[in-house]
Amino acid sequence: MRWALIGASTIARQYMVGAIRAQHGEISHVLSASAERARAFADEHRIPRSGNDLKELLSDLHIDAVYISTTNEKHLQQALAAVKAGKHVLCEKPLALTLDDASAMVRAAREAGLVFATNHHLRCSGSHRAVRGLIASGRIGRVLSLRLHHAVFLPPHLQGWRINSPDAGGGVIPDITVHDADVARFLLGEDPISVVAQMTSSGLGEGVEDSAMSVWTMPSGAMVMSHESFTHPFAGSGLEVHGTEGSIFARDVMTQNPIGSIELVTSSGREVIGFDQHDLYGESIRRFHAAVAGEGEPAATGLDGVKSLAVALAVREAAVRGVRIDVKYGDVR
Ligand code: NDP
Repeated sequence: MRWALIGASTIARQYMVGAIRAQHGEISHVLSASAERARAFADEHRIPRSGNDLKELLSDLHIDAVYISTTNEKHLQQALAAVKAGKHVLCEKPLALTLDDASAMVRAAREAGLVFATNHHLRCSGSHRAVRGLIASGRIGRVLSLRLHHAVFLPPHLQGWRINSPDAGGGVIPDITVHDADVARFLLGEDPISVVAQMTSSGLGEGVEDSAMSVWTMPSGAMVMSHESFTHPFAGSGLEVHGTEGSIFARDVMTQNPIGSIELVTSSGREVIGFDQHDLYGESIRRFHAAVAGEGEPAATGLDGVKSLAVALAVREAAVRGVRIDVKYGDVR
């Protein structure tokens, strides 16, 4: 697989260049709005070609797939152009700023017969898969509730557009609530119906929210509680799933790295649950490569990205309006 990177971003630098190469992908181009930044990124990562012309990049017939990790408002136009040029697409979350735009991206790829995936890394982790396995095997009985703890501290080098640019898709809801929506859907195998929410700016957000809490209604009747923030240095992340026969406590698992711990508590006592500690992003790429080769679906599909965005948009609307909001998933199935 020959890849082009669209976006000289932190996530590409820190995780995705290594993940693509570890899965035997070749990175042949990097694109930035600034030719100079693209060249510096290419030099740093030994990428043969760089530039700021998307059309030129996409005209290269040797490129099979693009990884889009620009700021969120750019994903739509870049993904549509890539699909038009016949490239498979792995796009960062949130797919877009609106449900219509995200749906248009997914629909275009489908009509062109191309793989389109969302880079929701958490469902690629051994820890989340182990929790999902415990739930599916019935170890905790009927699920009553899921609590998602994802209040973290946004490190200074990421405190740019995320905290001050609504136009670029800033704010903790598009940034982290989308991940939590995907986690809930992945673990419980169902889509939230409606949400109530509150949000605030508690020290970092300038014109966007930096903290949100919400409660989601699920078709099964399970309750989901979700907390995201950029301003909590010491809260630690995690999730808890409580059922009629047991509870699962997973600590430090809402992360980019294969860390954390899982404990199952039932009438028999406490049990530490082991899990596979593979690289999350490598797994996302492995599944993407397989999907392009015709073997199954990517770890998170385009539809998964549409749905996680739909939940996040409902959370923001519920917080703005102060009322319960039904989640609208649009017409992509
Ligand atoms: P960055 O802020 O690092 O990069 C985003 C864009 O900002 C880059 O594409 C680049 O534009 C521009 N940029 C980078 N450095 C500079 C600079 N010095 N001056 C001006 N512009 C600059 O964002 P992230 O890597 O944190 O996030 C990118 C995307 O990835 C987002 O959609 C985000 O939501 C997602 N993400 C996903 C994660 C996951 O785990 N799935 C984790 C982190 C982020 P250009 O390309 O034009 O140079």
